[in-house]
Formats: sequence, structure tokens, C-alpha cells
Amino acid sequence: MRMSKLFVQTLREYPSDAEVVSHKMLARAGYIRKLTSGVYNYLPLMWRVLKKIENIVREEMDNAGAQELLMPFVQPKELWEESGRWDAYGKELMRLKDRHDRIMCLGPTHEEIITAVARDGLKSYKQMPVNLYQIQSKFRDEVRPRYGLLRGREFIMKDAYSFDTSEEGLDKEYNNMARAYKKIFERCGLDTKMVQSDSGAIGGSVSHEFMVITDTDAGENDVFYCDCGYSANSNHAVSKLPEVVVDGKKYFSETKIVDTPNTHSIDELCEFLSIPSTIILKTLVYIVDKKPVLALIRADKTVEETKLMNSVGGMDIRIASSAEIAELMAEHGFDAVAGFIGPCGMTGIPIVADETVRDMKNFVVGINQTDKHQVGANLSDLGLDEIKYADIRLVEAGDFCPECGKSLKVTKGIEVGNIFKLGTKYSKPMNAVYLDKNGKSHPYVMGCYGIGISRTAAAAVEAHYDEHGIKWPIAIAPYHVVIVPVNIQDELQMKVAEKMYEDLKNAGVEVVIDDRDERAGVKFKDADLIGFPYRVTVGKTINEGLVEYKIRETGDVEKVTPEVAVEHLVEIVKNIK
Ligand code: ATP
Ligand code: MG
Repeated sequence: MRMSKLFVQTLREYPSDAEVVSHKMLARAGYIRKLTSGVYNYLPLMWRVLKKIENIVREEMDNAGAQELLMPFVQPKELWEESGRWDAYGKELMRLKDRHDRIMCLGPTHEEIITAVARDGLKSYKQMPVNLYQIQSKFRDEVRPRYGLLRGREFIMKDAYSFDTSEEGLDKEYNNMARAYKKIFERCGLDTKMVQSDSGAIGGSVSHEFMVITDTDAGENDVFYCDCGYSANSNHAVSKLPEVVVDGKKYFSETKIVDTPNTHSIDELCEFLSIPSTIILKTLVYIVDKKPVLALIRADKTVEETKLMNSVGGMDIRIASSAEIAELMAEHGFDAVAGFIGPCGMTGIPIVADETVRDMKNFVVGINQTDKHQVGANLSDLGLDEIKYADIRLVEAGDFCPECGKSLKVTKGIEVGNIFKLGTKYSKPMNAVYLDKNGKSHPYVMGCYGIGISRTAAAAVEAHYDEHGIKWPIAIAPYHVVIVPVNIQDELQMKVAEKMYEDLKNAGVEVVIDDRDERAGVKFKDADLIGFPYRVTVGKTINEGLVEYKIRETGDVEKVTPEVAVEHLVEIVKNIK
């Protein structure tokens, strides 16, 4: 490719709405252009990167025995009603109406469609196991599309779905996919951690995420891990806690109601009563699937919303607003504001208590009266209907590993892929069944496996860059090398550059020649920004028969003959896995 012809416009500045490295660099280097919020054009350089990632994914999925198909992007409401997700999915599901008033949606994922495909054709145990996948654009009306390709509304995903006759079969395929994913990300030049995670809206019992660990702002997930091998996303992580005072008897010899004016926060309450937060029972109001839920937790700890949501089998969770709290108080004959809420008298509302609450004694608790708390309280005396205990606590750095007891560490990660054991979550409600040896019907045992193709490309930038631009891992770089003749008016320079260009092309190396009539400095800047893994500069030293061979990753420079440069590059490209 000739740089003079390549459809790429590099920008002098980063776009003003770009917050993270990959968004800044991909936009400035001319890979992507925003069309509208969370929706991007993939320009030629980007498309080459995406196709390379897709091809690696294809090869490894095919090697692992999966078969590629392609399902429609527009999906009918009826299938989503069969699975029960039409109401549950929330606003991320982009719904629309056709000219006949039929209601459709843009595919955010394809469990419903693939289950219907299987139901039509997968009738016998003899046809299983089978794993079907596609690579396709998805649409999710994300609340906060941001970070460029990392969290778009339209994005490219590989989604695979496996069908088995037994849990053992599913386990086997799940492990097979985990192995394939490891290879895929390695081939893309990405270091990933496979971490335990929550199964979220897709549901099921077991799931893992593949995280690119990053120290940039783009890591949206906290990953807790331990040298012993334990690692989990924060929405799933569990831990052991250091021992602390959880019995308030030293502070309160009897149970009574005390005035606690203006103690709206835990800190204020601790200061006012001169107590540690570990003897305060904190009560929080959440709205899960539009209904209130009370969460109780020891006040030095934080509620992990996903864990709380899962503990009541919900699909959607948020903290209640002050207006909602006021309404709830009024319904129960109280008028307390946040900071003074407690579980007493809140009949008819599910109450979930974190495991930390079990050991608490003689604690301080809100009683739904502003500026008052009860001290020296015990759960058994509060006269509550029914409490459900669950681990709804956010793990924090310094907590101990649930498996070996050592201190857990925390880091940021970008989720590039995930694998789920779905079981019969979709096949059962959708009545998607096969016949066993004896002619008896059973729902399929399913798994699903996603990879964010466009997110993987952006994550690769987050993991490989410097202040000058992108440093693509060679396997997914748009081109392997750029040849830069310093002065295109110089006949010898151009002759050597053109010959190398032809030789490299003929040997299967993906090469760009920067034949623009620009200053060398401009060409070098663009080469670094775009992130070609190798640069060969043909300048004055060609008079001594030498060119400059530069490795983007390390910045190492060598003077070699054009023939040696070509040989090196051909060898490197031959060895790309
Ligand atoms: P997240 O928690 O990041 O929203 P998810 O759990 O919703 O991801 P899945 O529904 O399982 O993800 O999708 C599979 C893969 O698709 C994810 O691992 C991720 O790589 C990618 N992906 C999901 N949402 C987006 C998005 N908005 N933009 C780009 N890629 C995405
Ligand atoms: Mg999501």
C-alpha cells in the first residue's frame, strides 16, 4: 500500500471527547470516526486489525470443533417473550416497530435465536455435542457509551453457543472453550487473566471472564487475585475478613433509644457516639426490578450491588432515591431520612443481611426516626419477619483470600471475553428439547461464549502504546512494516525503497511505503502514531549501502543492508502464529 493512497487522516490533536488511551489514539491515528454516540466507522486501518482478530478467533474456534453460522441482527419480540427476557432485559435492548406494527429488537446477544435454531434442527442426542458461533455486530443501548470501542453501543462480537445432553458434556466444552480463549488472546498479543465472575443478565451458574490487566483508566473492572491462583471479578469475589470488634457491649450495657442529631453518615455517627463502625448495622434501600429491597451490612463494609441483586434473583438494581425512600417511609408510617433507616417495622419488604451481620451483637441501628438510633440492639430482639443471609459484601484490598488466607491483591481489568454455563436456562422455557436413546425428551444443556472483537482491538492498544502512539502486536497490526524514503526527490533512495517494497510484498509481508512528499519528521510521527511494528528508513546512509531498521516495540535501531532488512522481516512474518 502506498501511504499517498491509503485512506487515513491522522489528526494533530486527540478528539475532545476521548478519555482513554485507546479511544484517543485510534481516533487520532485515523482508525475510527464517530458517527453518533457509541457508534463508529471502522476505517480501512481499523478494519484490517478487526479482520485479523476475527481470523484468529475463527481459526481457534474451528480448531476447537465449533461451526460458524450467521444469525439475523434484527430479532422478533416473540422469542424474547418465550425466554422471559423481553421484560427483564431493560433499556439496553433497542426495541423497534416495523411497518406492520410488529415489534422487533436489535440483537444485543443471540441466546433466544440460537435456541430457536437448535429447536428446529437438533432433535436427537446423536447430533450432540455441537457448538455454533458467529461473528457479528451487536447493538446495546448502553447507559454510558464511552471509551470509544471499549464500550460502544454498536460493537462486534463473537458469540458461540454449545448444546450438550449432560452437565458433564457442558463441563468438557466449557474447558475446551477456556483453552481456545487462552490461545486466541495469546495470539493477539494479549496477556489475560481468567477470573471467576457473576453470570449477570445472561444467567446460569458458573462463568469466567478473560481480563486484560491494565494500569490505564480504561479498566472498568476490579479484579481480586492471589498468588495461590484465586482470581475473581469484584462482582463475584469473596474473602475472609480480619477480626474486629463486632460486639458493642463495651459501649452499651443496655438496649435503648438515644438521640443522634445530624448524624447522616456513618462517620458522623461513629464520632458522635465514640464507637467503631464495626458495631453499627447499616441499612440501605435498593430498588431491584422496580421493587424495594433492604440490605443490612456491618457499617465498615460496602454492599456489592450485583451480589445483592443475585441474592434476590433480580435482573436490575440501583440505590433508592431520597424521594423513593420518603415514599417507602410514608407507606410504613415513618418519616425518617437516609442515615436513620432501619429494618424494624418495614414489613412486606425483602430484607437481605450480609454474612457480616451474623456475628454482630449489642449494635447500633436506625429505627426510622430522624436524629435517633437504637444502641445495644440485637437482631433477635428487633422482631423482624424474615431475614435472608447472603454474601452481599464488596471485597476490598487487604481482605484475605478465601482459598489460602493470604492477602488479596486488586488490579484493574478490561473484560475481553467470557464463558458461561447456561444449563437449561433458555432451553427449558423455550421448550427446546432433544430425544434421548429411549425416545424421552430433555432440554439441551447449554453454554455460551463471547469475545468482544472490537473491544479486544481497543484493549490491545491499552496494553501496547507509548506517548508517541500505538505499538501493535504484530499478529494484529494493520500492516507489518512501513518503508520511509526520507527524500522522495532522491533517486537512489526511491529506487531502493521501491525495490524493498516490491520484494516484501512478493514475500507476503504487509508493507506500506510512505511515498508522500512530506518532511521525514512528519512521516516518522505518523508511523509511530499508527503503530507499524517495524519501520525501515531509507535516507542518506544508502550511499554506504545501509538503511535504518527500527523496532517500534523496543525503539531499537540498527543499520543494515536492504537485503538483510527484507530477510529479517520475511522471517518475522513467517513466524507469526
Ligand atoms: P460488560 O460487563 O463489559 O458490559 P457483558 O458482560 O455485558 O460485558 P457479554 O454480554 O457477555 O458482556 O458480551 C460478550 C463480550 O462482548 C464481552 O466480554 C465484551 O468483550 C464485549 N462487549 C460487551 N459489551 C460491549 C460494548 N458495549 N462495547 C464493546 N464490547 C462489548
Ligand atoms: Mg454489558
